[in-house]
Amino acid sequence: MCAGERMSAELMTSDPNPIVSGRSCGTCTLCCKVLKIWELDKPPGVWCRHCKPGSGCMIYSGRPQECRTFHCGYLTNPDLGEEWKPSHSKIVVVPDMEGKRIAVHVDVQRPDAWKREPYYSNLKRWAALAGVQRGQVVAYVGGRMYMIFPDRDVDLGMVGEGDWIMMDERMTSAGIKFEAHKLHKDDPRAQDLDAQQSGQEVLRSKPTE
Ligand code: SF4
Ligand code: SF4
Repeated sequence: MCAGERMSAELMTSDPNPIVSGRSCGTCTLCCKVLKIWELDKPPGVWCRHCKPGSGCMIYSGRPQECRTFHCGYLTNPDLGEEWKPSHSKIVVVPDMEGKRIAVHVDVQRPDAWKREPYYSNLKRWAALAGVQRGQVVAYVGGRMYMIFPDRDVDLGMVGEGDWIMMDERMTSAGIKFEAHKLHKDDPRAQDLDAQQSGQEVLRSKPTE
């Protein structure tokens, strides 16, 4: 098994991983920009009002619980090399949906960061493995979402709390082909979804016949 496959498998576990020895946030504060912080009603892609970029959290002892428990993939996965440090890559890797999804949250000021190497090749390799495991690999640039498949990327546009993402799969002569569609949660097609989650969650429909 190549390093990418091993790394992907580890990223897709839901176990809280310990922080890799020798790693720390240092001067990185990128998660305080790229992530939505629910407890602060902070949208993705803008700096948290409590962050001093390059320095840290100004309310550290009183920061929200979701900030206390968050550790990005760089901190927790030893198979992610130093090139993945968010302050360098401009990408924050986050295992999501109980390990079924790998999300990369990209700095809006470097929106193409996920398409640069060595990142893009890794994302494609993880996407191939995710297809086998019925998982997903997605990139967020601000509120914009891209579904990453081995053969292409699907721009789903801005995805809000009222939107669901429906996944379809069908067998073709070349193998299983996956599709992703954005639906408003009131769309009747959303009723067929077999995973009932809302917000910026990726949902999978029943496989097509
Ligand atoms: S993105 Fe990762 S390394 Fe950077 S501040 Fe957040 S948790 Fe630390
Ligand atoms: S409260 Fe602190 S740790 Fe949480 S996002 Fe804001 S600056 Fe970062």
